[in-house]
Amino acid sequence: MIPRNVKDDFPILRQKMHGKSLIYLDSAATSQKPQGVIDALVRYYQEYNANVHRGIYHIAEEATRRYEASRGKVAGLINARRPEEIIFTRSTTEAINLVAYAWGRANMNEGDEILATEMEHHSNLVPWQMLAAERGAKLKFVPFDGQGLLDLDVYERLLNERTKLVALTHQSNVLGTINPVKDMTRKAHAVGAKVLVDGAQSAPHMPVNVQDLDVDFFALSAHKMCGPTGAGAIWARYEILDAMPPFHGGGEMIMLVQLDKSTYKEPPHKFEAGTPNIADCIVWSDAIDYLQDIGLDAIRAHEKQLTAYAISQLSEIPGIKILGPRDLERRGGVVSFHLDVAHPHDVAQVLDQEGIAVRAGHHCAQPLHRRLGISASTRASFYLYNNEDDVDALVRGLHVVHRMFSPRTAPVT
Ligand code: PLP
Repeated sequence: MIPRNVKDDFPILRQKMHGKSLIYLDSAATSQKPQGVIDALVRYYQEYNANVHRGIYHIAEEATRRYEASRGKVAGLINARRPEEIIFTRSTTEAINLVAYAWGRANMNEGDEILATEMEHHSNLVPWQMLAAERGAKLKFVPFDGQGLLDLDVYERLLNERTKLVALTHQSNVLGTINPVKDMTRKAHAVGAKVLVDGAQSAPHMPVNVQDLDVDFFALSAHKMCGPTGAGAIWARYEILDAMPPFHGGGEMIMLVQLDKSTYKEPPHKFEAGTPNIADCIVWSDAIDYLQDIGLDAIRAHEKQLTAYAISQLSEIPGIKILGPRDLERRGGVVSFHLDVAHPHDVAQVLDQEGIAVRAGHHCAQPLHRRLGISASTRASFYLYNNEDDVDALVRGLHVVHRMFSPRTAPVT
């Protein structure tokens, strides 16, 4: 369990919104930052701001040391074999694009197949559409059922010797579904396919072990795990990275440059051309320290309990349809729902007046919503700083929505 009232660590949560305490229920979009992470960012710029891997003076060496130490911290977070298997990117989106561009263009050919799911975030869909169009490959999709669980029979039927890649979210950002990645990877490997996992919504909320999952690529973002925006990573086994051509060309990714050709460094530097996002990549490690100090197991347990409470309380709202599985072992702390009386944008606007921040819309998952027969939903997403009082406030806010938008039961005279 979360050992103390961690809400106090997050200065943004002390402010009032429309005269009410701010209740932040949009951590699936981005998480809030604890004071220690904010301080670490200021400390970087005040004390050792310098470019990395270049300067032969104290602060440059300090920045380089901390940048590389942070790589090691991210590697440790997901149990990578070695820090060199972590490539810093801007985000999960850039991490997936790196694989689509560098690995995809070297390995995907006409007639090859990419197998994704119908619950993917656009970040784990559009790059594959672009790659498939360019290389003449085919995209296929695993559907999900009425509970929001992937149809694994269809998955097995779709896998075949032409499948080169399975692209799969670890945890859905709309349904909350946690997919059986380990089992799906074993089946993908049996036909020779590689597996890329979008870990944007899992790595911040539960322990992740890429060696145990046995996947080939794992993408994550710092900003969803109490870290700064503009930092993310792709993990892949070293042999895969070593065989991959570079993503971007430019400074610092080269060994020798001639006018007509160049040779490249080894991973990870081969994939980090130009000045990286030094400050945010370094400070990501402070966020990881913060989470590990509390414990990813404790965070997962806390969110499970809060999700159970939220589902039971929200179920009392008339006309609500809660999306995603009811089995708490198979879902995370993202609770999306649909109210029959009001559009999600109206719901979010009324909740905002109550000081409650939720997301309304398609949450970058248009095909998922189309499959559900709706164009949008309202999403409350929890993190370690949320508690049952926040859920109670949400439920009170939804009763306000209901009163405002319900057709009157008695005629007005
Ligand atoms: N994948 C999932 C499941 C997400 O929820 C998100 C962000 O909401 C992303 C990918 C994209 O992450 P980023 O915006 O950090 O690139």
